[in-house]
Amino acid sequence: MLDIFDCVPDGLLELESHQLWQLLKHPTLIHLEGDRSLPLFVSILLHGNETTSWLAMRELLCKYQNQNKYLPRSLSLFIGNIEAARYRQRHLTNQPDYNRIWRLENELEPLPEQIMAQQVIAEMRSRGVFASIDIHNNTGRNPHYGCITRLDNHSRQLARLFSKIVVHYTCPKTVQSYAFGKFCPAIVLECGQPDMPAGTAHALEYVETCLNFDSFDNLPDSAIADIDLFHTVAIVKVPEHLNFSFTGDSDDDITFPVEMDRLNFCELAIGASFGKVNNNRAYLSVLNEEGEEKGDRYFQIKNGEITLKVPVMPSMITLDKNIIRQDCLCYLMERLIH
Ligand SMILES: [Zn+2]
Repeated sequence: MLDIFDCVPDGLLELESHQLWQLLKHPTLIHLEGDRSLPLFVSILLHGNETTSWLAMRELLCKYQNQNKYLPRSLSLFIGNIEAARYRQRHLTNQPDYNRIWRLENELEPLPEQIMAQQVIAEMRSRGVFASIDIHNNTGRNPHYGCITRLDNHSRQLARLFSKIVVHYTCPKTVQSYAFGKFCPAIVLECGQPDMPAGTAHALEYVETCLNFDSFDNLPDSAIADIDLFHTVAIVKVPEHLNFSFTGDSDDDITFPVEMDRLNFCELAIGASFGKVNNNRAYLSVLNEEGEEKGDRYFQIKNGEITLKVPVMPSMITLDKNIIRQDCLCYLMERLIH
């Protein structure tokens, strides 16, 4: 289920992300030659509703096409979940999440999507990929930031070129950046909410910088000295059997604060509120990096309120109920001293 091309199909750059299905029948990998031979890998639309990645790459490719210019470095562009993009969904209900398919689970029969992801990995490894950039959006309010799965200098440099805020995470291990981080510097760009011109401009400028970049070895260590580095320690989920809202519906088990996404990237103190519970069966599930339930370490429920037991910084809090059901309420992070 993977198509591989060595040029941009005619007419592709005129399409919006929800129209790509008209020309592309499967997830598509496009290899484009540039001055420096080792390719930069850019993956886009792993989540179909995260449009910034396509807007940025379309604009970049148009720019070089219109000026009849050769790319400064070879570029391999992977366009992921075209079907979900058609319906502006993260993924369709009959599909896996395309950012959870990048590792084969030993005991299970692989899905077609997992086999496709392995083909992409093999293809890029064989080409000696220079670095990997996976472009995403958030559904809640967040600053722009980069996520890395490794803490070596090359990974940090790749991240610092995008933003001072850098998040280190090692879980889940089924994501694209974790798979690519094993053989090249790899980053996830979180470019704020979809369709915002500032996110598109930032992603475009960053990819172009990376295309013009000779080697990570020429960058001084001082370039990464000012990074604000955070490590993801846990993921917060609303247990499936519980009802919740941000508006205080009558059947709520949990009512979260209105505009809760304002808490993203705020370093919160012990006692900070994560919402109200309306009965004694309500709680938040918190899984650590090993997937163990650690709700009691992070939250307590007192006088009908869920409050923090330890200081943490949340990220990716979203007000979108579907995303909370499909993915999570948020991640919890701690500052890493480096
Ligand atoms: Zn995403």
